[in-house]
Amino acid sequence: TERTLSIIKPDATRRNLTGKINAKFEEAGLRIIAQKRIHLTKAQAGKFYEVHKERPFYDELCEFMASAPVVVQVLEGEGAIVKNREVMGATNPADAAPGTIRAEFAQSVGENSVHGSDAPETAAAEIAFYFSGLELV
Ligand code: ATP
Ligand code: MG
Repeated sequence: TERTLSIIKPDATRRNLTGKINAKFEEAGLRIIAQKRIHLTKAQAGKFYEVHKERPFYDELCEFMASAPVVVQVLEGEGAIVKNREVMGATNPADAAPGTIRAEFAQSVGENSVHGSDAPETAAAEIAFYFSGLELV
């Protein structure tokens, strides 16, 4: 089985949507094996999203991610990385397939409710960014 890093973003925690989003993961066969609520600083968000630092929305993205608590979580299951991205839907909610998290809950391309790792290498690095070995069993 595979693991991926998921983040329930500030727009979703603000609207009290953690349970509804977690239900989507569990209905898709993804198991939440670790989870915590944290409030990132802008600098921490900037480090996490360092790959995007040259993109025009970087500053706005870091401000947003530090604007309220997030729920960081590790999801486990068969093909978890791809499965999670299917359940999330397209980055822009206007393009997201019906029934996906972003179609149902996202507010804009920036405030799009969830993050999910996009490949095995990024999943491993992103899990290690938020969780220690002791938190993962
Ligand atoms: P994520 O990495 O959060 O799972 P993603 O892989 O679908 O989302 P990326 O292209 O990696 O999308 O962009 C990372 C995040 O940056 C997006 O989820 C969104 O919050 C924000 N973002 C992307 N494009 C824009 C944009 N044009 N304007 C504002 N914010 C954006
Ligand atoms: Mg991405």
